[in-house]
Amino acid sequence: MWFPKASGMDEVDPQLYVEPAMSAQQRHEVQRQINAGRAVVEAFYGEITTKPYFVACLTAECDDRFGSYGQRAAAYGDLAIRLSAKGLSAPVIAHEWSHAELYHRAGGWWYARKIPRWFDEGVAVVVANEPRHSEANWREIERHGLPIPKIDELTSFSDWGAAVKKYGETAGDVPGNLHVVYTTAGHQVRAFLSCAGPTGVATVLGAVRSGTTFDDAYAMVTETCAH
Ligand SMILES: [Zn+2]
Repeated sequence: MWFPKASGMDEVDPQLYVEPAMSAQQRHEVQRQINAGRAVVEAFYGEITTKPYFVACLTAECDDRFGSYGQRAAAYGDLAIRLSAKGLSAPVIAHEWSHAELYHRAGGWWYARKIPRWFDEGVAVVVANEPRHSEANWREIERHGLPIPKIDELTSFSDWGAAVKKYGETAGDVPGNLHVVYTTAGHQVRAFLSCAGPTGVATVLGAVRSGTTFDDAYAMVTETCAH
């Protein structure tokens, strides 16, 4: 991911590297989706403080080269975002860019790793606003009485990986799968936002960056609107 040109990618500009097989029209379309995804992130956070470069693949061979493990996209800190063919859309780009923005606003790796996965993923879910993780989908999950993870089952990276496995939310996108893990995270963050608003996210991240624990920062923001 660090030297995409050395891995055989074409440099469209310093912010975008694509598989050489991509046509001029496809490159143009990727650029368009990136711009649209960027606008969504900017609308949520108020301003964008990150400028990741993108590596966009078309083929499975290219995905493998960048270690996709079947995921449609991934953010690498606040530096880069990888997109597979299934991830070349504004909502997926907005989701990953939200991770980059959160990482940066929390103060980089040292602080960002202290943010529970449910909060990071939940914010990304809200920013991207995909139907498959929506409140309507949450109600479907409730209607079917599906088991859902507890929030404290979703703290660390390994927690998240285990939950995605346990609840069958594999990257392979099984038809009928209701994505309970991501939707639960989104539902939790929507409840937070209905009380604290998007500025609440920025406040929590700023507090974490200045050394406050996530739990204290979260409690500080939510206690003003708990009633
Ligand atoms: Zn994510």
